[in-house]
Amino acid sequence: MKTPGNPIYLNNYTPAADIATISVCLVIYVLLFFSYTRKSTSYRVFLSIIPTLIVACMADIGFHMSLFARGLDPLTYVLRCVYHAGLFTVFFLFTLYITVVTRLEKKAQNYILGFSTMLLLAIVIVDIVTSFGGSALKMTDEGIVSSGSAIFFIGYILFAVTDVVLLGLVRNRLFKRVMYGFYGSVAISFLILLVQRLAGQSSFTAFSFVFPVIAMFYIMHSSPFDAELGAVDATALHDTVRYNYGKKIPFIFISLYLPTFDVEGRQMPESLQAQARHFASSFFRSSLLFNVGRGHLILLFPKSRNADYEHRIGKILKAFADQHRIYQYDHKIVIGESNDEISRKNEYVSFIRNINRSIKENTIHRVSPDDLTAFDRSEYILRQLENIYLTHDLNDSRVLVYCQPVYNIRTGKYDTAEALMRLMLPETGLVFPDQFIYLAEEHGFIHVLTEIVLHKTCEEMRRLIEDGYDFCRISVNVSMLELKDDHFCEDVSGIVTGSGISGDNIAIELTESQSESDFNVMKTKIEELKEKGIKFYLDDFGTGYSNMERIMELPFDIIKFDRSLVVASGTSERSERIVGNLANLFNELDYSVLYEGVETDSDESMCREMSASYLQGYKYSRPIPIEELRRFAEKRNKAG
Ligand code: C2E
Ligand code: CA
Ligand code: CA
Repeated sequence: MKTPGNPIYLNNYTPAADIATISVCLVIYVLLFFSYTRKSTSYRVFLSIIPTLIVACMADIGFHMSLFARGLDPLTYVLRCVYHAGLFTVFFLFTLYITVVTRLEKKAQNYILGFSTMLLLAIVIVDIVTSFGGSALKMTDEGIVSSGSAIFFIGYILFAVTDVVLLGLVRNRLFKRVMYGFYGSVAISFLILLVQRLAGQSSFTAFSFVFPVIAMFYIMHSSPFDAELGAVDATALHDTVRYNYGKKIPFIFISLYLPTFDVEGRQMPESLQAQARHFASSFFRSSLLFNVGRGHLILLFPKSRNADYEHRIGKILKAFADQHRIYQYDHKIVIGESNDEISRKNEYVSFIRNINRSIKENTIHRVSPDDLTAFDRSEYILRQLENIYLTHDLNDSRVLVYCQPVYNIRTGKYDTAEALMRLMLPETGLVFPDQFIYLAEEHGFIHVLTEIVLHKTCEEMRRLIEDGYDFCRISVNVSMLELKDDHFCEDVSGIVTGSGISGDNIAIELTESQSESDFNVMKTKIEELKEKGIKFYLDDFGTGYSNMERIMELPFDIIKFDRSLVVASGTSERSERIVGNLANLFNELDYSVLYEGVETDSDESMCREMSASYLQGYKYSRPIPIEELRRFAEKRNKAG
């Protein structure tokens, strides 16, 4: 066979490029060793490429050394075959990597890998046969060696074409910019090979493999990049917003929030990720997809490059609705335009989250000026919360304690109450919990608020006892997040003891949590504080998926049945029987049952029949400022 183009003179060989390739591979290996990489399947494939390439380079060096030292001897041929086989295996692994990272269906994957395996075997066998058949290398009388067979060249082209075609076929499964990165690295490889051939050289063949490897390494490691989802993270969104704001580039954003996946450790299914990737690249020009939090994606694109964006938004929403019919996940969609004020503060994620909180599931919301006002308000509340946190004054006048009296059926009196927090802020007036508890929890300010509420409650409780009122206990709401703090028990018992009241004048309300570790934290903390006499209520029973076995393991005193159970019991006899039986069960196990949200006479009589010990709700009283509890008791407890 004649070599196409200029012959390759192997005497020109220098090991520099092979050594460079080995060095780059080793550096990548060391970097991988010392840094965190998600141990995905694609990562493992990548990991096997590096040693294969190193072996190929070493075989190449060995082959040339043997060629110069021993001439066309069997060892020379063996090393040459190993070198070629190594490079083709790397090609094969590239193909495997592409099928894995794009998560091709098993069938397509088998088809492609079957073809590549055949190609690999065929080339390696033909290479061995031609080598030992003696037609692979030619030596002139002057001792100049040239490649006599084009089999390696043909194999290289076949495999390269396979990978480029494959990349083209899966382009919708890959993020566009990744595609360009891959193509760019392949283009550089080709360029090197071309120059090498024109120069009649052969030293740089293995080196040309380094570029796709670096591209893969980069993609895997530029940690904000999610190769599977084709999305970048919140940090990247910040950068993009800053860039656009600086260059005055107006943009449109579409946010998709799927609460189902806003759970630790819960991943979006592959099919959904593939769809997101597809959506991100198909509808708008220069669009970017950001994965800004669990179950939360934001698609952003410049307005000027998408003049007909309204029409395209219509199309993407229709496509999404078609998908939604299949997947049926709850969602919240927010569509809006860049706004100078939010861009300047770079706060799109918080802004959209704030909107998500106020809209219903499965709705599409267009950003309006009201949303900006609401966001300003919540930003203001957040700054106040931060200030309350930093000031750490247990008498902070901005934190108010309201109390809702609870009716005790056994004593016929209002002798307990629940403390409910409010904020009184200069610019907003009274703020209710649904507008600040989540902010305090998200930013780690909740515990200070609890301390203030607890302190004020204990102080008032002491005065009520001193003045001879019937109140025996007030319960305070505590969030799971603060319970996890090591100082929690110390802080609580410190405040209670400091007020000079006894532990059983105070109760703590906790809601059930699904996680195993939360359960263990709850158990140890409850047990520790129960020793000081503090009582514990299980709040909002019936709102989540209750794990009865676990509840029974915790020494609660009172189970608070959520208003939703009261409502359900009022509408169906079946629900009433279930709720009644649950209440009976708790009673038999020495827990008392409190019904929340009792609003009417019929609610009350139903709850009494369903084994109630305590009743709480608007029927008896709305939450009132804690200082007014005494007046309430004077009126209601005396009247009976
Ligand atoms: P929750 O602990 O379930 O508190 C009961 C809520 O139901 C209160 O709302 C109360 O005003 C309301 N409510 C009382 N009776 C009725 C009724 O008959 N019908 C209806 N529909 N609702 C009734 P509020 O005060 O707005 O508190 C909302 C939530 O905020 C509380 O739910 C609690 O989860 C949280 N929260 C309140 N104060 C605190 C606090 O100091 N710390 C923490 N961590 N959370 C608090
Ligand atoms: Ca509560
Ligand atoms: Ca409750």
